[in-house]
Amino acid sequence: MADSPIPSAGPVDAALIDDLVAASRILAHHRVLDAWGHVSIRHPANPERYLLSRARAPALVSAEDIMEFDLDSNPVDQRGRRMFLERFIHGQAYRARPDVNAVVHSHSPTMIPFSVTGEPMKAISHIASFMVKEVPVWEIRDVGITQGLLVTNNTQGHSLAKTLGDGPVALMRGHGNLVVAPDIRRVVHRALYTEVNAQQLATALSFRRPITFVAPDESQDPKRLDDSWEVWKSEAMKGA
Ligand SMILES: [Zn+2]
Repeated sequence: MADSPIPSAGPVDAALIDDLVAASRILAHHRVLDAWGHVSIRHPANPERYLLSRARAPALVSAEDIMEFDLDSNPVDQRGRRMFLERFIHGQAYRARPDVNAVVHSHSPTMIPFSVTGEPMKAISHIASFMVKEVPVWEIRDVGITQGLLVTNNTQGHSLAKTLGDGPVALMRGHGNLVVAPDIRRVVHRALYTEVNAQQLATALSFRRPITFVAPDESQDPKRLDDSWEVWKSEAMKGA
């Protein structure tokens, strides 16, 4: 923990917080996040700060739960709130990647088989084109375990960010994944279609036939996410 108080980067546009809350609930609605896992955004006014919910199930996160952290993942104004143990994943991803403004850590179910077998995970469908290169797998034992396979400090978070490199996704062996993007809507798209592509790839592998992956010259990220965002948000925020 820091010795002196960390100054806040200031208030954030309510619409952006609203999107962060929606992101958490959308990914829970689609079972990408379970009772754990989290979504964050970089603070728009200060690249050395990020915003993440207090420790709470993603399906229940609301605007009042959002806390501010520095990139070492110290809270700016904790006020007794319980924090996610694995928040170091976020701080170190923002530190390593100036192009990244939104981060998801999930236990997305179909990550596990790919993370423990060495079976390559890559895009087989157009909409998952962001994974045109093979997704790297992070081995926590390379840096040392503290609490099982959980990321509990900046050393482990930094090592994970190094494995991520300049890509959009890293698998975490026996645990889940790290997904990053330039903005909140795109990180939701990526976290969701990482899971969908993994399920589809597992089905394709079960056919025991050669697989044609998306080629680099076929890769194209969706240009607009407004339509998908509108429907995902309306589904996930029902009853909120
Ligand atoms: Zn985790």
